[in-house]
Amino acid sequence: MFPAAFDYAAPATLAEALSVLKQRGDDAKVMAGGQSLIPLLKLRFAQPALVLDIGRLPGLAGVKRDNGHLTIGALTRHVDLERDTELGKTFSILPEAAHWIADPLVRNRGTMAGSVCHADPSGDWGSVILALNAELVAQSSAGERMIKAADFFKGPFATTLRPDEIVTAIRIAVSSAASGGSYQKLERKVSDFATVAVAVQVEMDGRKVARAGIGLTAVGETNIKAVAAEKVLAGQEPTDEVIAEAARQAAAAAEPKDDIRGTAAYKKDVVRVFVQRGLKAAIGRAQGGKA
Ligand SMILES: Cc1cc2nc3c(=O)[nH]c(=O)nc-3n(C[C@H](O)[C@H](O)[C@H](O)COP(=O)(O)OP(=O)(O)OC[C@H]3O[C@@H](n4cnc5c(N)ncnc54)[C@H](O)[C@@H]3O)c2cc1C
Repeated sequence: MFPAAFDYAAPATLAEALSVLKQRGDDAKVMAGGQSLIPLLKLRFAQPALVLDIGRLPGLAGVKRDNGHLTIGALTRHVDLERDTELGKTFSILPEAAHWIADPLVRNRGTMAGSVCHADPSGDWGSVILALNAELVAQSSAGERMIKAADFFKGPFATTLRPDEIVTAIRIAVSSAASGGSYQKLERKVSDFATVAVAVQVEMDGRKVARAGIGLTAVGETNIKAVAAEKVLAGQEPTDEVIAEAARQAAAAAEPKDDIRGTAAYKKDVVRVFVQRGLKAAIGRAQGGKA
């Protein structure tokens, strides 16, 4: 199928892009890597009057570390994160999750921020940013605001981003505590979206879990932050019983549907098993000094 007709603009600067969005935000669609938007245009599920291509804006690609934060620019592609060996030493969940996304073609063009803004409940990055308690830097011509990952997803393919805003970066606080993460994904075949996936990040305080972050993929209307499960772990030694209880709470938070990928009951049980596995892997990495 061919897309409906649309105007196309590729501004040279962020300021110019924001000014276009201020005027035409309601009938425009931002395009970064185009890996989700172009299929939507072709299927005519999206028919914007204007496609605003931000793919070549300067200064928005790459990962920086400053003031205790990791800042992932909005044009950082999945492949950039997958291959970042330095990042793997501190936030191994990022290259690990990147490797699970789609196939090399999509990973070479698609961006982490684009995936998060697309807000597909089956998207992998949504759960990762929930587990990491990340923030999104949203910029409009009126200024900048930070949106917590937990406040970002409103429903399937819907976020709290305003039509005049562009996400310019994803920010993650870097902890001085021993920390580790893991992304566990079940897919029917290579490059498929998740049947179920789970993101886990822990910070340790000696033998106890100081903080745990858990995000669930493809088991609800949005990526889900498993808050009750996180609370089970906070301040506790991660014994088998504590981990099993956290995994049960995460499964209880999941709201999957029966579909061709499996029954709701099966998916809930995969959540339980993956949270157990993910926690053990993340804690092992934190204690072994590898993120
Ligand atoms: C064959 C195939 C397999 C896939 N498999 C997976 C998979 O296994 N797991 C997975 O998670 N995803 C998968 N995807 C989805 C895809 O990887 C991501 O959704 C995609 O990479 C999004 O990034 P993008 O830069 O291409 O965004 P685009 O397609 O350019 O944009 C997506 C949406 O986000 C908005 N947007 C993009 N960037 C910004 C920004 N900076 N600020 C504000 N709004 C913005 C756009 O307006 C649009 O609504 C797959 C896609 C394909 C085609």
